[in-house]
Amino acid sequence: MSNQPKLDWNEIARYEQAIGKKYGQEAVDNLRAYWNDEKEEVYLEQLKLLKEKDQYTWDKERKVFADGFFITEKLLTRESSFIPCPICSKAENNAKDDFCIKKYDCCYTCYV
Ligand SMILES: [Zn+2]
Repeated sequence: MSNQPKLDWNEIARYEQAIGKKYGQEAVDNLRAYWNDEKEEVYLEQLKLLKEKDQYTWDKERKVFADGFFITEKLLTRESSFIPCPICSKAENNAKDDFCIKKYDCCYTCYV
């Protein structure tokens, strides 16, 4: 198998977990139950694609160190796109209001 995608077993285990999470453990179990070389090739190809996609997401959501934690840049920059409350026009940058506006179309103060 010379043209096998370069994936180590740790990565495969990681992606199996991801697949299990997304499609259910059954999907992973089925892959194992009906195993053959042809399927393995397809499977590894899918893993490779998944890895590329993952890499893309990782690049896009670059982790930054903030307040002692690694968080994605997206979470930090999210505040700049904060939607003001349609009821009281308050535009506070806190997660509680942000969450309420996205979920209930008004800030936390208006919601309670
Ligand atoms: Zn409000």
